[in-house]
Amino acid sequence: MEPFRIKAVEPIPLRTVEERQRILAEADYNVFRVHSADVTIDLLTDSGTTAMSSKQWAALFLGDESYAWASSYERFERTVRELTGFPEVIPIHQGRAAERLLFTTLLCPGQTTVANGHFDSTRANIEQLDCRAVDLPCPEAADLVSEAPFKGNIDLDRLRELLDAPDDEQVALVILTVTDNGGGGQPVSLANLRSAREICRQHEVPLLLDASRFAENAHLIITREPGQQDRTPREVARAMFDLADGCWASLKKDGMSNTGGLIALRDAETAARCRERLTITEGFPTYGGLAGRDLETLVQGLSEVTDPAYLAHRADTAAWFADALAKAGLPTLRPAGCHAVYADAGHLLPHIPPENFPGQAMVCELYRQAGVRTVEFGTLAFGQDGGQAPHELVRLALPRRVYTRSHLEYVVDAVKDVVGRAGELTGFTITGPQPPMRHFTAKLTPLEEGRNTP
Ligand SMILES: *Cc1c(COP(=O)(O)O)cnc(C)c1O
Repeated sequence: MEPFRIKAVEPIPLRTVEERQRILAEADYNVFRVHSADVTIDLLTDSGTTAMSSKQWAALFLGDESYAWASSYERFERTVRELTGFPEVIPIHQGRAAERLLFTTLLCPGQTTVANGHFDSTRANIEQLDCRAVDLPCPEAADLVSEAPFKGNIDLDRLRELLDAPDDEQVALVILTVTDNGGGGQPVSLANLRSAREICRQHEVPLLLDASRFAENAHLIITREPGQQDRTPREVARAMFDLADGCWASLKKDGMSNTGGLIALRDAETAARCRERLTITEGFPTYGGLAGRDLETLVQGLSEVTDPAYLAHRADTAAWFADALAKAGLPTLRPAGCHAVYADAGHLLPHIPPENFPGQAMVCELYRQAGVRTVEFGTLAFGQDGGQAPHELVRLALPRRVYTRSHLEYVVDAVKDVVGRAGELTGFTITGPQPPMRHFTAKLTPLEEGRNTP
């Protein structure tokens, strides 16, 4: 059961299929353009959608809104230092702002970053600087159905090869995204982190964590990695941070709050250069674009997120949801992580080629049918410039502490209907401009007159 009870409620919007059909067409078949008032169950993202606890709402009032050296900043700094062990703590308003700041500080044009998987905003911020972002997922990641426990691992052999190559000085940074959001929310093991650390040390390349889901990664280490089962999430998280030179995070995820981010580093000189830029673009270094009250909710959120009962409930929910969807006929990426279940739309809709976005066909039908909003994680999101994603996935994200089991049962029923009509679904083409991260703004047209059109 949920290890919390509900204190404040919001009504859920209900629309008819006919209304949603019209709404979809008006939104050019892109659910990022659909108004939240027209969404019944919103599984678009787990980012910033968290339900705060009563202690977080109470903490809002402790917010010190002083411009410089507010006590809220001091509490935030102490909390992050205790959690990560990194002495240099920089608050910032969200993950991609941290990415821009770090990468403009650390990278020169022409350099390369290597990761288990760059998240979309991470890649976009690196490529914007005329740098190359190379993904080296472990071989197990290619098999969607195996139960391999750590599909988020980086391929150590290929990492070694790349760093041994004659132009290895081009590699400026190795990144481990914990958990790997683009690759299915899969965790990275401590063993993999330790080996990556050693390789980076030999080549004198810094190793940074994209720690947006550090607590979920720690929980999955405890439940899946031999020898780790008796440790607490906090201890394992610390072991992860101890192996890195620094981290950044979107605290809209495991910060358990509606906004926020951080950079935390060992190196004072790099931190000083980040703070210079921060002051120009985001604000004074003790608030980084956040209000004092936001910092207070993060202080409380960062203590709640490592609660073992909360993490066990979260992982159990994702595992139950993945099994229920599989029983409903929807193939999902195995094993489930924590923050989402990833459906294999390519497998469900083999008659729609990747360039016509089978994932988007599923996303649109799930919305049309039941008002459930999900997001395409396939060629639309990751196949910019004519490329093709390795898999045509649809992410059903789980906002933290927001939906109960019966909401998810409603989604399972909706999926059953969509699976039953899979053969009738048609693909899409993009009309109009395609800026970086095109999936947020793209306008789509159904390929044929089918069930998708009004
Ligand atoms: C969400 C996310 C980001 C970007 O953070 P925002 O707060 O959305 O800007 C970066 N990396 C990962 C792994 C994420 O999930």
